[in-house]
Amino acid sequence: MRLLLVEDELEIQAFLRNSLEEAGYQVDVAGDARQAEEFATGASYDILIVDLGLPDRDGIALILSLREKGVTAPVLILSARRSVDDRVLGLEQGGDDYLTKPFALAELLARLRNLLRRNHPAAGELTRLRVQDLELDLLRREATRGGQVLQLTPQEFVLLEYLCRNAGRVVTRSMILDKVWGMRIQPDTNVVDVHIYRLRGKVDTKGQQPLIRTLRGVGYVLKDR
Ligand code: CA
Repeated sequence: MRLLLVEDELEIQAFLRNSLEEAGYQVDVAGDARQAEEFATGASYDILIVDLGLPDRDGIALILSLREKGVTAPVLILSARRSVDDRVLGLEQGGDDYLTKPFALAELLARLRNLLRRNHPAAGELTRLRVQDLELDLLRREATRGGQVLQLTPQEFVLLEYLCRNAGRVVTRSMILDKVWGMRIQPDTNVVDVHIYRLRGKVDTKGQQPLIRTLRGVGYVLKDR
């Protein structure tokens, strides 16, 4: 999959390029709207990530102009602007999805997959994950256990998705930090333990066989049998 990343902050640019390449994307990077327009109209991309705060032009104006020029690839807007108005405007003006900074890498990757799947329905990638009686609907971002909906925060969903994708395997704290929180968190925080604790309170309720196991000093494993 060919991806155009339009982002002017060098640190985020480098982080995203590495992470996206690791996830299998072929990535081109543009640091401003002018360059982005040149790239996007000169080549065919499967998907675009566009930061709204660009040095030469607003990202929304860029997206509008690309749409006028016939660029139809889905656009994921990345922005520090969190207000509902900004999001609605972004989506009305030709963006296909909107993610606010700071974001979790796993969530960014999940949203890219969703956008691509919408555009290439034949891609046939999994939209559901199932581990024992736990089921995750990746499109609706909904988790159930034994048919009961779990009230998870978006972050908890991403964490549970990561555990499910690695069911039966041990994942360490640093793997979770890296994949779920991306670059946002200092590794010495106990954010993983806190979130696992809360997630366990929702997934492994009384009377159910516990699925999330702690291996002390090592990490966690989601039991697959
Ligand atoms: Ca920016």
